[in-house]
Amino acid sequence: MFTIQNVLIPVGQEYQAVSVHIVEGRIAAIAPTLDILGTAIDGRNKLLLPGFVNAHTHSSEMWQRGMIPPYPLELWLAELYDSTPLDPEQIYLSALGTAVETLLTGGTTVVDHLVLIPGRELETVAAAVQAYKEVGIRAFVGPLIQDESLESGIPCGDTGRKHQPYLRSTEAMLELLREAISQFHRPTEGISIMAAPTGTQLCSDALFEGCVELSDRHDLCRHAHLLETKAQKLLAYEQYGCSAVERLKRLEFLSPQTSLAHCVWLDEHDIDLLGDTHSTVVHNPLSNLRLGSGIAPILKYRQAGINVAFGCDGAASNDSQDVLEAIKIGTILHNVTDLDYTNWITPHQAIELASLGGATGLGMASELGSIEVGKQADLVLYDLMNLSLLPRTDPIGLLVLGRPTQVVDSVWVKGDRVIAEGKPTRINLDELRSQLFNRSQWSVNRKSNAVQQVEDHYRAVMQLPASE
Ligand SMILES: [Zn+2]
Repeated sequence: MFTIQNVLIPVGQEYQAVSVHIVEGRIAAIAPTLDILGTAIDGRNKLLLPGFVNAHTHSSEMWQRGMIPPYPLELWLAELYDSTPLDPEQIYLSALGTAVETLLTGGTTVVDHLVLIPGRELETVAAAVQAYKEVGIRAFVGPLIQDESLESGIPCGDTGRKHQPYLRSTEAMLELLREAISQFHRPTEGISIMAAPTGTQLCSDALFEGCVELSDRHDLCRHAHLLETKAQKLLAYEQYGCSAVERLKRLEFLSPQTSLAHCVWLDEHDIDLLGDTHSTVVHNPLSNLRLGSGIAPILKYRQAGINVAFGCDGAASNDSQDVLEAIKIGTILHNVTDLDYTNWITPHQAIELASLGGATGLGMASELGSIEVGKQADLVLYDLMNLSLLPRTDPIGLLVLGRPTQVVDSVWVKGDRVIAEGKPTRINLDELRSQLFNRSQWSVNRKSNAVQQVEDHYRAVMQLPASE
């Protein structure tokens, strides 16, 4: 139980100084003046916002950030899987790092589409879950499952190319998900497992159907990559004779608790299908720029009434986990896509997408995503005396359009203060930094064999000139 006193909160387009009571992890009262209940927290010269959702990431990519050369997704993936971490202790550390960077840039929830160590899949999930519990962030962990091999994610064109089968059967992948649900799905404790097939390009109908069945049975959120690249759009028609979105609709994967990362290459009919099913688009602008995937038509989605959230995507395609940065780029990027500036996303709208939009995609809009009495206290306190937020103009304008640097003073998740005075309260940040440093080495000029194996084929089907 505590009271945040004299803090600014947004009310419509304006701001109001209020006090806020938090009781048993929920917002109990908001008023201009309130008696102090429990501990008093000085909110003067500070801004209180609902926590953001980092609505799509892959925590273990932290080990590979800054390392992969400028490649499109299909080649980037080959490089990624060539250097993927293979030790659960690394998974634990990168989940901690992802959580801390998310919290320190305004996030209170992370959606981790978790890359699994082959043969040690449940240990991988256990390590990430342990990290999230320790640091205190709310986490949705979607074990990244597929049942087709990586090469099958590239169109064949007219090469007649055949693919190796995936190392595990469909049933084995579903069994893994069942086990993850039974061991780790604890929504009331802030840890939820998602049914999260990798994406249409690497998953069979049977895998999607199994995921739908499990998510219905256990009330899980669904999550997948969707049409991130042009190659994936070509592949969907090549494999199924219809768009990837039509296929997901047929498989009944789309729903109000379904969030889909990227959505760069959708056509008008696809947009209608997402709207009809109340699915959520997760916008990952930095990753889309980094991998040259394209610009997701976010303004069109908003005009079609589709819910949009922001994600950082994994740190190997971003190469950070700064939620505020993703919001900024994901907001102003679209000003170049539409001359009619009345369609552009305003800073206040951007904040709402990052918080309530994120919560909506996770089926949590009645519990999270805004500062309202009765909602859970997943809240972030920003220091308006920080140099990057000065001088005083519009706090949310500065937060979204500026370059806010170390502006988060405190973060609460379920009413627990997990960041105080800009530092994690439950883990030793210096120790984490040492571990990340000591367990890595400088790595430059990479070009793996895996990339060389797929590069010629990729260039051919994408009608690029042959490489030298
Ligand atoms: Zn991703």
